[in-house]
Amino acid sequence: MPAEQGRGDCQTCGAECCRYVTVEIAKPRAHVDVEEVRWFLAHENVHVYIDADDGSWNVQFHTNCRHLDRWNRCRIYSRRYRICHEHDAEDCEASQAEAQDTVFHNTDEFDAWWRKEKARRRRRNARRRKAGAAAGTQRKA
Ligand code: SF4
Ligand code: SF4
Repeated sequence: MPAEQGRGDCQTCGAECCRYVTVEIAKPRAHVDVEEVRWFLAHENVHVYIDADDGSWNVQFHTNCRHLDRWNRCRIYSRRYRICHEHDAEDCEASQAEAQDTVFHNTDEFDAWWRKEKARRRRRNARRRKAGAAAGTQRKA
C-alpha cells in the first residue's frame, strides 16, 4: 500500500492496489453461475479472474479508493484499513506472480474459455464412463 511518503516499488507503480475491489465468487459449474459471470463482465471496468495461486474465482471492480491523493499516496496511511495494512508489498499485483492469473475482460473472452471448458468436461466425463464400463465388464467376468 502506498505510504504517505512513498517507498520502494510503491513509488513507481501508480498505486495499483488502491484502484480496485475484489470479491471471491463461486467457480462456474452450473448455468446460473455462468450467467452471473457473464453479467459481471457486461459492466464496464469489471473483470473476472482465476487466481493462479489457489484456483479461486474473483470479480474485480476497477475503482479508485477515495483516500488516494493525486501523488498516488494514502491520505490515511497511519489509520488505513486492516485489509490495506495486511497487503504485502513484496508479493503484490505489481509483482510477476499476478501475471499468471487468467483474466476475463469481457463476455467474449469468458465465452471462448467456457466453450473449451465444456469440451474438456465432456472428454473427461466420457473417459470416466468408459473406465466405469470397463470396470463393470471385469467384475462380471
Ligand atoms: S501494488 Fe504493490 S507496489 Fe503498487 S502500491 Fe500496491 S503494494 Fe505498492
Ligand atoms: S485506504 Fe489508503 S492504502 Fe487503503 S486502498 Fe485506500 S488509499 Fe490505498
